[in-house]
Amino acid sequence: MIFYQTGYTNNVDVDKRSPNDLDVISKLSVLAQGFATSVFEVIGIKLDYSIQQIAEMFCAFKCNSFSICDEEMNSVGTGLYLDCSVMNHSCEPNCAVVFKDAKLYVKCINERVSKGVELTISYIDLAQSTPSRQLRLEEQYCFKCACKRCELHTGDDQLLQGNELTTSLPHFKDIKKSKQQHLDVLETLYQDNVSKLGEMNENLILLSNLLCSEYINVQQFQKSLLHASRVLKAFEMCYPALHPMLGIQFALVSKLQNYLGHSAEANHNLQKAVHILNITHSHSTHPFVQDITNSHTK
Ligand SMILES: [Zn+2]
Repeated sequence: MIFYQTGYTNNVDVDKRSPNDLDVISKLSVLAQGFATSVFEVIGIKLDYSIQQIAEMFCAFKCNSFSICDEEMNSVGTGLYLDCSVMNHSCEPNCAVVFKDAKLYVKCINERVSKGVELTISYIDLAQSTPSRQLRLEEQYCFKCACKRCELHTGDDQLLQGNELTTSLPHFKDIKKSKQQHLDVLETLYQDNVSKLGEMNENLILLSNLLCSEYINVQQFQKSLLHASRVLKAFEMCYPALHPMLGIQFALVSKLQNYLGHSAEANHNLQKAVHILNITHSHSTHPFVQDITNSHTK
């Protein structure tokens, strides 16, 4: 079955989608048609959409929707914002999308953008190598990125370092699905691979991010700070200097350092967080900044 994408920004054939993706879309379309038909029958309206048309709507929605994120950039939902869907992707974007509840804001994060320069956002996590970013963009958005970072393979030396040397590190998706998510297992996995791969390897960045959250959950803040600092170093390499992801990571590291009594470092990173988040969240004081500013002044 071939679906033709009727996306707002990307008029591409959806037959480029992976077989798994098409299978899911196909099944969802059949379900949606059955559900919608029965609901509309109750109120006496005959639904006139074929499975093909519903599938096309799914494809268009998937390409053009935005993940609605909370203040810490965790996804909390999905929404369509057609005005913003016209913006193209870059792996070195000059704008970022942030939310206040479900309201979307586009913030310019490059102070040197001049009149006439295209405004771009990132559709994906940028702390990944060029092959990983391109795979993700092709799978989800059906296009091949040709931005400067992809062209120059910026950062790939470190992000891909050592991948060919080890087969012991499972793909991150497998780690997340694993039932053995015990902290010791994850930490051992990290320690067994870090000397071969380096802290900036893209898989270890994901693992550090996971370990950072897990250590916070069990209140092991010293260990959490170690991983949060590693993630910060990676984000500094991969994200534009004023990107909200970087601001939030500075804020997290500052908060952990403050809690552990490292006041000088905490204040240094707080200043950096405030500088970024005051730009990206100029529509309202970022609660993270408010929270840590209050705790630092106590
Ligand atoms: Zn790119």
